[in-house]
Amino acid sequence: MDCLFCKIIQGEIPSKKVYEDDDVYAFHDINPIAPVHILVIPKKHISSVMGVDESDKERIGSLHLAIQKVAKEAGLEENGFRVVTNIGKHGQQTVFHLHYHIIGGRQLEWNM
Ligand code: 5GP
Ligand code: ZN
Repeated sequence: MDCLFCKIIQGEIPSKKVYEDDDVYAFHDINPIAPVHILVIPKKHISSVMGVDESDKERIGSLHLAIQKVAKEAGLEENGFRVVTNIGKHGQQTVFHLHYHIIGGRQLEWNM
C-alpha cells in the first residue's frame, strides 16, 4: 500500500522513533509546530478516526495509553499539552493513516 506512515512503520522511510509496542509507533513530526511535536499511530493501517471499526477497540486503547506514556516521557504532564487528530478536507488531514499529534512545550493558543 502506498502509505507514508506504513512505510515509516516498516522502516522504509527513516523516522526519529520515540516509542513502539505491538500495536503502536510514535515518532517526531518532521515539521514541528511546537518544542514537542510527536505523532502517535497504530501499526495497522486505518485511514482516520472514521476508519476505526469494532475490531480496533483494544488497539485504540493501546494508542491512548501510548499517548500518555509518550507525553510523560517528554515532560509534558505538569504543564499540559494538546492531542489533535485531523480528519478529511476540512480537518486538513494530509496523511491518510490515523495519527494523533502530541503538541506541547509552550503555551498553545486556540484560534481556528
Ligand atoms: P496531518 O496534516 O495529516 O494531520 O499531519 C501529517 C503530519 O505528518 C504533518 O504534521 C507533517 O509534518 C508530518 N509528516 C509528513 N511527512 C512526514 C515524514 O516523512 N516524516 C515525519 N516524521 N513526519 C511527516
Ligand atoms: Zn498506512
